[in-house]
Amino acid sequence: MITAREALDIILNNVRPLGPITVSLAHSLGYALAEDIVADDNIPSFDNTSMDGFAVRSDDIKAAPVVLTIVEEIPAGKIAEKTLKSGQAMSIMTGAKIPDGADAVVQVEWTERMDERHVKVLRSVQAGHVIRLAGGDIQKGARVLERGQTIRPQEIGVLASLGKEFVQVYRPARVALLATGDEVVPLNKKLPEGKIRDSNTYTLQALVQECGGEAISLGIAEDIREEVKSKVAAGLEADVLITSGGVSVGKFDLVIDVLKELGVEIKFWKVNIKPGMPLVFGVRDTRYVFGLPGNPVSTMVTFLKFVKPALRKMMGHRAVDNGLKVQALLQHEIKKQDGKRHFVRGILESQDGSMIVRSTGSQLSNVLTSLTKANCLIILPEGKNQFSPGEKVEVELL
Ligand code: AMP
Ligand code: MG
Repeated sequence: MITAREALDIILNNVRPLGPITVSLAHSLGYALAEDIVADDNIPSFDNTSMDGFAVRSDDIKAAPVVLTIVEEIPAGKIAEKTLKSGQAMSIMTGAKIPDGADAVVQVEWTERMDERHVKVLRSVQAGHVIRLAGGDIQKGARVLERGQTIRPQEIGVLASLGKEFVQVYRPARVALLATGDEVVPLNKKLPEGKIRDSNTYTLQALVQECGGEAISLGIAEDIREEVKSKVAAGLEADVLITSGGVSVGKFDLVIDVLKELGVEIKFWKVNIKPGMPLVFGVRDTRYVFGLPGNPVSTMVTFLKFVKPALRKMMGHRAVDNGLKVQALLQHEIKKQDGKRHFVRGILESQDGSMIVRSTGSQLSNVLTSLTKANCLIILPEGKNQFSPGEKVEVELL
C-alpha cells in the first residue's frame, strides 16, 4: 500500500492550476495572485514626516536651544508654498510632504511654542530625523508580490496602496459533491429506522468553501449502479468530483467500478493511513476525482490531507500545504498495531512555555464530535507503533 507522502505526490503531480480571472480588490480575499505585482511608483511617493512637529534645517539647530521663525503650516495632504530658509521653521503634520529647503523634522515634544510666529527648538537632530523617505516601503520597479501569493488583508492593503482596483487571481475550483449510500438521508426528509443523516455533504461543502472553492451538491446516490453512474457522470463536468462512501470492499461499494466505466483512470486506491485507508484518486482529462471513505471523520481527514492541497494547487497558491506543524509533548501513551500513519484528533495547549498535546478520546472514525473537540491532528508516523508520555510528536493545527 502506498504511503501518505506517495499519495500526495501522485495527486500534486497530476493536478494543474486553473486559469486566471480578474476580481475587484474588495473581493480578492483568499484568492492566489495570478500575476506578479510590480510597483509603478515609489511608496511613499514623496519624503514626508512621521511625526507632528517643525520642519527645519538641521544646521540651524546645532546649538539648540534655538528660536526659529514659523513661516508656514503644512497639514497632511498639502504642499508648502514657500521654500524653507535659514532661521525658519514650518509647522508640519504627520504624513505631510517635507518642504523644499528643510532636511529634518523636530517632533513637537522637543519644542516650545513662544508665540504665534516663533518656536524654540530644544534639541538638535541629525539631517533626516523623523523623515520617511520616498520609496522607503516600496521602490518603484520592485516586484512587491509574486504570482501564487495568497491574498490576505495585508496584501489587499499593499495592493490598494499601489492603486490596484482589480487584480488577476486564479479562478475558484468548481467542486461537485456526491454522497452515496442507501442508508444516507437528506436533512429535509424524515429519518426512518436504520438510516443516518447525510453529514458529509455539509462538512465537505464547508471545507470546499474554506479552501475558496465553489461547492455544488449532487445530493445522495443510492447504492444502485445506474444511479451512482449518472450522478458521477454529472459530477465529472466539474473541475473536481468528491464522492463520500462506497469505496471499501463491500458488495455495495460501487464507486470505483463506476469511475472506471466512465473512463476515469484510477491513480491509486488505498493509502497506508488511519482514518481514511480506502481513499481513491482518479483523473479524467483535466477532471480529478477523490473517492473519500464514508465515515465522517475519514471524510474530513482525507479531505484535509489530500483534497485541500490539490485544491490549493489548482487555485494557484504557492503554499500548497498550509497547515502549521509544531512539535508537542504527548501527555499519555498511544499504541497502535497496524504500522499505518495515524492522524489522531488532539487537543494542543501551551503549558509553562511548552506545547503539550493529548488525544480527544475515542478515535472511532464515525465519532464526528471528536473533531469538534480537536484543535489539531497528532501525526503518528508509519512503522512506529508505540508513543510514550513525554515523547515529542508532530502536530498539525486544524
Ligand atoms: P462506506 O464508506 O460507504 O462504507 O460508509 C462508511 C460509513 O460511513 C457507514 O457507516 C456510512 O453509513 C457512513 N456514511 C456514508 N456516507 C455518509 C454521509 N454522507 N454522511 C454521514 N455518514 C455517512
Ligand atoms: Mg456505503
